[in-house]
Order: sequence, then C-alpha cells, then structure tokens
Amino acid sequence: MKKNEQIVLGFDIGGTKIAAALGTGDGKIIGSKRIKSEHRAPEDVLNEMVATGNELLGEGGYKHSDLTAIGIGAPGPMDIPKGTMSPCNMKKWVNVPVRDHMATKMGVKTYFDNDANAGVLAEWFFGAGKGCKHLIYLTMSTGIGGGIIANGHLIQGASYTAGEMGHIVLDPKGPVCNCGLRGCYEAFCGGRAIAQRMQKEIAGQPNHPIVAYVGGKVDRLGYPALIEAVKDENGYALDLWDEICLRNAQAIGIFANTFNPEMIVLGTIACHAGPLLLDPIHKHLPQFCWKEMIHAMKIGTTSLGSQMGEYSGICVALNGLFEEGKWQLPWEKK
Ligand SMILES: [Zn+2]
Repeated sequence: MKKNEQIVLGFDIGGTKIAAALGTGDGKIIGSKRIKSEHRAPEDVLNEMVATGNELLGEGGYKHSDLTAIGIGAPGPMDIPKGTMSPCNMKKWVNVPVRDHMATKMGVKTYFDNDANAGVLAEWFFGAGKGCKHLIYLTMSTGIGGGIIANGHLIQGASYTAGEMGHIVLDPKGPVCNCGLRGCYEAFCGGRAIAQRMQKEIAGQPNHPIVAYVGGKVDRLGYPALIEAVKDENGYALDLWDEICLRNAQAIGIFANTFNPEMIVLGTIACHAGPLLLDPIHKHLPQFCWKEMIHAMKIGTTSLGSQMGEYSGICVALNGLFEEGKWQLPWEKK
C-alpha cells in the first residue's frame, strides 16, 4: 500500500443486483463483484455485502485497517439521517439499516446517499463532468433521477431529497406520474412512461408498422424500438420523438435557468439515442432558457457507462471524506 493511499469500498444497491467495488482515492478500481439482491431477505444480502467487502480487501492484498471509508448508493425512498432504506422496487426491504450495519461490521465510517446523487458524484469526480463546479446529472432510465453539484458541492436539501428533477411538473394537465403528481418530466420522458404510452396507443393494432420493431409483441414496445423507428423515419415514431425532445428541452431549460450549470450529463436513454436526442434538444432550448445559460452549458452523455455501478458507491464515500476535508478533488490535488 502506497503512503497516504486512501482505500474505499463502495456498494451500488439495485433492485436485482448490487455492484460492490474496492477503489482508491485516485479513482482506480482495484476489484469488483456482483451480489444478487432480487427476491432475497435483506439480512442475507447485508451479510453477503460484508463478506464480499472482506473478500475484495483480501484479494487486493489489503487489511481491514487499510480501509478509509465505505460508501453506499441506494434507490429511494431512504432516510439519510437514520441510514435506512425502504426502496419501492424491493418489497421485503423496509427501514433496512444498511449504513449502520456496514459501519459496525466493517468498523469504518460509512456514507450513504441515493443512487442519482451517487451518479452525479461519479460523473463529477471521474466521468464526463470532471473539473466542473456546476454540474447536473439526469439518469434517464426507467425513471428520471437527478443529482446537482452547485458551487462545488452536492446539493442535498433540507430533508435530503433535493434533485428530484424527474418530478418537476411540466404540464398540470399532463399524464399521471408514478409519484402521484400529474405532468411530471418523468411522466413525459421516462422509460417506463414511454413504454406504457406506446403500448396503450398501439394496443389492438397488430399491423401498425411500429410493431415490426418488437417482433409483433406490443408489450415490448419502448425506447429501444422507438429509437430504431425514428432512425427509419416512421411517422408515428417521429411525432412521439418530437414531443419527447421538446419536453426534455423544457425540463433542461428550467434546470439551466435555475442552476446555470457548466454541464448537464444525461444517462442511459441519451447514450443510446446520441445526437438523435441531443440535436433537437439544442434546437428547442432557446424557447425555454436564456442564451447566457445556453452559452455557458455543455450537454453530454455519461462517460462511465457500465462502470457507473462500480464508481457510484466509491464516490459516495469520497464525497463524505471531501465534505469533511479528508479528500481532495482529483483536479485540485497538488
Ligand atoms: Zn412524478
């Protein structure tokens, strides 16, 4: 172990699996493993997280005492002060004390945050947002989660729920959202919402041209088919895509006017769609925010890709250390 080297263990908890990774303060991933979380009792999973953490340390040639901190990124809802999680997509998990369990069993300070905040931290420290002081990250997957870095710090809010950017209301008469509000950004552009909308609109039309993209199975309609159909200039797909691009621009315009970010990093769907999504967003943006904001801001896609899970937990740990003055931003290191 190098002198002054910081060793952190990270866990990115998801509904089907957990990514566990051991890394350094410089962003080097020493080792990683996957843990199954689906259909399992929380206590079994927590015990396996401890065992996996110990294995990663051992395989990397490290001792328990070498570990600086642990970080955990998890899906909401969660109680940050108490360190517990009750994710809506994991039925058996209610008030699970994940943070304190890891801290007690591993004997090291453990930091805990939601997965979108973990994502913005990963993009900020080691990804597309490296070096930024003002950065926004939008997950753009099944739902739309968000994380905000403003003035060089993660914004957590009064009750640790800041960054719920998928649930700003773009139209109070819009479609009902999973969260109960109407017309949320997520209800217009989230992966689940778009799949449900397409399946509803196409139901009972087995000969609709869009159905050819999913082998005739209407219940498989969603973003992947939509993106392919847009590339082929299918009329239905193009109309829906225009609407999606306009709503994305509306939301991003609101974030731009509010936070004046240097960069907005977009996740999964934007990575798959690329310029097909980004170009129309740029075209529509002047309708929704000031040119000063547009000139200051780059819109890009995540650069960590499939490694996001490995970095998420590690970056929650590093941000905990950073806020306590025990870790320096990589680009500020002397
Ligand atoms: Zn909502």
